[in-house]
Amino acid sequence: MSSQISQKHPKGLYVLFFAEMWERFSYYGMRAILLLFLLDNIKGGMGMSAAEGTAIYGLYTASVYLLTLPGGWLADNILGQKKAIWYGGIVIMLGHIILAVPAGPAIFFLGLSTVAIGTGLLKPNISSIVGELYPEGGARRDAAFSIFYMGINLGSFLGIAIVGYLGEKVNWHMGFGAAAIGMLLGLIVFRYGSATHLKGLGEVPSAKEASEEVAPASNSNKMLGYGLIALLVVFLVVLQTTGTINMTTAQGLAQGAGIIIVSISAAYFLFILIAGGLTRVEKYRVGVLIILFLAIALFWAGYEQAGTSLQIFAERHTQRMIGGWEVPSSWFQNFQPTFVLIFAPVLASLWISLSSQNRNPSIPVKFAMGLILLGLSFFVMVAASNIAVKGELASPFFLTFTYFLHTIGELCVSPVGLSSYTKLAPKRYVSQLMGIWFVGASLGNLIAGLFAGGFDESNILQMPALFNQVAIITTIFGLILLVFWKPIKGWMGGIH
Ligand code: GLN
Repeated sequence: MSSQISQKHPKGLYVLFFAEMWERFSYYGMRAILLLFLLDNIKGGMGMSAAEGTAIYGLYTASVYLLTLPGGWLADNILGQKKAIWYGGIVIMLGHIILAVPAGPAIFFLGLSTVAIGTGLLKPNISSIVGELYPEGGARRDAAFSIFYMGINLGSFLGIAIVGYLGEKVNWHMGFGAAAIGMLLGLIVFRYGSATHLKGLGEVPSAKEASEEVAPASNSNKMLGYGLIALLVVFLVVLQTTGTINMTTAQGLAQGAGIIIVSISAAYFLFILIAGGLTRVEKYRVGVLIILFLAIALFWAGYEQAGTSLQIFAERHTQRMIGGWEVPSSWFQNFQPTFVLIFAPVLASLWISLSSQNRNPSIPVKFAMGLILLGLSFFVMVAASNIAVKGELASPFFLTFTYFLHTIGELCVSPVGLSSYTKLAPKRYVSQLMGIWFVGASLGNLIAGLFAGGFDESNILQMPALFNQVAIITTIFGLILLVFWKPIKGWMGGIH
């Protein structure tokens, strides 16, 4: 791995690395202090309840990932990736400038939505252009993605450290504004770097390049699509009018968004299975993609609690004093990117050495390992919260160990899942299915937000039971995958 990482890569990769690093600085910096800001009623925050704040957090993070679908579509059909990245970066920067102004909730939500739209435009397209730098695919492309994943996590690390510090210790809006400067740096380098080092890439929308190959959607397919949307709208109206969910509250809106995301995904998978003209082998492979989708949504639902329930735990129930200095609670979120930076090369070389002995675990086994590690991490949190309910502060080692398990789990599922999606997807559906992969992240983030709604200061006694629930559900799903890995591998039809 290290030899693959150190082999020569085109300069374009580093241009993309740098731009993505600042985009992630923006995203993770925001994630680090968002919930704290929403809950804070002392230092100029919004003073929301945990239920409301975590629902808004879930809606924001879910929208960021959901907006990668239209973002990818715009690049494929109208802009081309390069312009999409450029405009996306500008929109993100503007969003942070708006957020830097302490001007009340309306301006705050305007800024937040602007950042989400910009990220939806930038994130999927910068990832796909990395792949295009290596048309031959193969191990060099994998190595390039590993370097790129390091850029992602370097940006996360810096974002959490700098924005977390500024937001918590100086002023919330200073924190929100910091990412505007980072994004500006990313944009300048992208502008000049891409002109020389990404020549001819991402300039023409791919739909125009491949227009002869792509069959236009038939009328009956369009009708089916409209019919499904109408059905979904009716369903949501019924839920609202019967009082099952109340979409005038943040929590109800997040629940509504969850129903929409699940319906879109289910309809999409059904649609390509029934009307996608797939061969038998392809249908089985899509079956595997569905299983991986469910697994990744569940994985992120636990992992992304770093910004919700675990953030609340760091803030209220963790011993954070070093000497006379109180460590900002958002800094605990930095264990995830730090551990990625340390362990990504270790795991990558482990897979390489295992595969040289023909013992590389199959994709379903790696997903099972990821989920079981995540489950174990929540058992650690059950122990930690049993200390907290006694009114004592838990040692920071609980969260540290939890995040260690999260990260090793992440490295079993996230890079592996990305490449499995590109390999298992029928060629003509690759980019749409990549979008669906990010929808899994969107759903997971939303659940992570909604789940943490129960972490109110007034009912901390239920904390161990809540963590226990996550631990049990994820472990069971992981064990089921482990039991059925052989038939699932069989469905993959020879792809590893
Ligand atoms: N940490 C990775 C990133 O930020 C993956 C996040 C995700 O897909 N939920 O790109």
